[in-house]
Amino acid sequence: MEVKVMKNILGENEKIAEDNRKFFRDKKVFVLNLMGSPGSGKTTLLEKTLARLTKEIKVAVIEGDLFTARDAERIEKQGVPVVQINTAGGCHLDAAMVQRAAESLDLDKINLLIVENVGNLVCPAEFDIGENMKAVVLSITEGDDKPLKYPLIFKESAVCVLNKIDLLTFTNFNLEQAREDLITIHPQIEIFETSATKDIGIYNWCEFIIDKLVSSSY
Ligand code: MG
Ligand code: ZN
Repeated sequence: MEVKVMKNILGENEKIAEDNRKFFRDKKVFVLNLMGSPGSGKTTLLEKTLARLTKEIKVAVIEGDLFTARDAERIEKQGVPVVQINTAGGCHLDAAMVQRAAESLDLDKINLLIVENVGNLVCPAEFDIGENMKAVVLSITEGDDKPLKYPLIFKESAVCVLNKIDLLTFTNFNLEQAREDLITIHPQIEIFETSATKDIGIYNWCEFIIDKLVSSSY
């Protein structure tokens, strides 16, 4: 019974996600779904990403948050249009939430829409929001066991950003092992090592986003 309900929810979500995808394609907006645990550094990475990308392209942001508008306020300071989705405790964004949020953005002159999902390694991976690409942020302080424990999100993501790389020497995080596990789960996954707070690796990550955007002819 529960399995059936979940299948129906996901089926309904899939339809709206397809509508979103068509809508974004018509607007020529490339959509990046940014996922990861609470505290993995998604918002800080996003701030640094925007600081670089907005020199070259027009970006808008949708911020998913459980209760607060704190992340959206941080992003607004980067001078980009931002819409906040409060899930009121909901642990992921779904396609309908993103559809409503996108309606309140003027996307006509936007090239890239980044959606910061709710901090969670589980269900955001199950809910298609109509994005072109999923990215997962895994911070060094979370431990190298996460890819094997939460394989779906790493399988679904085209790219994994290993953030807080500056803290590597203070932890027992095994970088070799993590890379090996990521590639076992998803052989085509792109891996970037960054420290958003220390401004390490941001250039390569941003170039990757721009390459994806250009090769999708947006
Ligand atoms: Mg955040
Ligand atoms: Zn959820």
